[in-house]
Amino acid sequence: MTYTSVGPRGQEIFQGQKDYIFPCVGHLYKEPVVLAKGEGAKAWDADGKEYLDFFSGILTTSVGHCHPRIVGAISEQAKTLGHTSTLYVTKPQVDAARRLAAITPGALNRVFFSNSGSEAIETAVNLACLATGRMEVIALRGGYHGRSTLATNLTGLSSWRPLASTMANVKHARAPYPYRCGHDGPCDERCAEKYAQELEEVIATTTNGRPAAFLAETIQGAGGYIVPPPGYFQRVAEIIRGVGGYLIIDEVQAGFGRTGKWFGIEHWDVVPDIMIMAKGIAGGMPVGATVTTDEIASRWSGKTISTFGGNPICMAAMAETLDIMQEENVPGRAVERGRQLRAGLDALAARYEWIGEVRGMGLMQAMELVKDRKTKEPFAERTSIFMETAREEGLLIGKAGLRDNVLRFGPSLLITEREVADCLERTARVCERLERT
Ligand code: PMP
Repeated sequence: MTYTSVGPRGQEIFQGQKDYIFPCVGHLYKEPVVLAKGEGAKAWDADGKEYLDFFSGILTTSVGHCHPRIVGAISEQAKTLGHTSTLYVTKPQVDAARRLAAITPGALNRVFFSNSGSEAIETAVNLACLATGRMEVIALRGGYHGRSTLATNLTGLSSWRPLASTMANVKHARAPYPYRCGHDGPCDERCAEKYAQELEEVIATTTNGRPAAFLAETIQGAGGYIVPPPGYFQRVAEIIRGVGGYLIIDEVQAGFGRTGKWFGIEHWDVVPDIMIMAKGIAGGMPVGATVTTDEIASRWSGKTISTFGGNPICMAAMAETLDIMQEENVPGRAVERGRQLRAGLDALAARYEWIGEVRGMGLMQAMELVKDRKTKEPFAERTSIFMETAREEGLLIGKAGLRDNVLRFGPSLLITEREVADCLERTARVCERLERT
């Protein structure tokens, strides 16, 4: 097959991928974008085409590609001590943990480092089970928590559950989805109460009544940037704690200033018992973190080890990322630039009927595409074409949602006013082109 949007160098690299990588490793487009270089909010493919990156490796290059300070920290550490395993104590790990504790809410000061969001989820759920002596966990439909067997089973999106349900101990409650809320009236506090009651019902009817934990993302990421109604998290925290379980909050996508606060859950004034972080934590280096209180952490009895967890090079990158984030006040920047991005996307929604909803917080914004605003019939085909057209306009964005009809915008948290304006101009051109088809 000849590729029209991939140049000769890209084609050669992609051929290698097809020859050697698992075929399930997919990409977002009909023909892949083969990336070769990045700098700040820009990325270049192997044949030199430039892109404005508003997906940042799934919200992970949190302070942009190849930030010189992070590159410096990585190089210095690589020259000094590159690996130890968690069996040895290192200053980079302690430095990274101390910086993290400075921004986590409440008494969540104790961390276990691993290498990915999936591993951080495993650690959190295992910790909850070990600490409570219980075995059942409730997650939310529409949620995404990773690719390990346990994380796949905690995930509530069928396309990300290829192993089907092999674990009996996970139950799923219905998640709020204000745009497609089945309840009458606006999706407000009263609606939040109904969803909270559904959690109570799931506990009462599908568990032994003694779950170890309730697990949720603050804003569902792969689900399509769904922001729950006010009051929801306060109520589910009461409910799970009322039956002796823990509240585990997955901040893998929403964490590190992206929503306008250091962590998404802070918008609801709830302090979880266990928090999970990854993606943007180390500016693109692989770090997963499970954070909890002294008391809960002390209940992990028995041995555990992570060979690569707390790796000095990754920890050096993380400490530098958090320093940059503090100095640049990324939560504040996300509020301002998020407002600009949101206003631009709202203006497009006012013009185009097929943009059913714009939603999100800070620099985590999405547009849900529909065929008809009244019926809200999902428009997955247009969403795919939108992605392809955006690529032609040199704009990288993401796609999500149970119905594959949600576009995601999640740029570097250091994104500038000009870059957001540029993204909006390109997005407007995509909309115009789609309107004509
Ligand atoms: N939780 C959430 C909310 C995520 O978005 C992801 C990754 N998309 C994960 C967990 C799993 O992270 P990883 O891919 O690093 O295992």
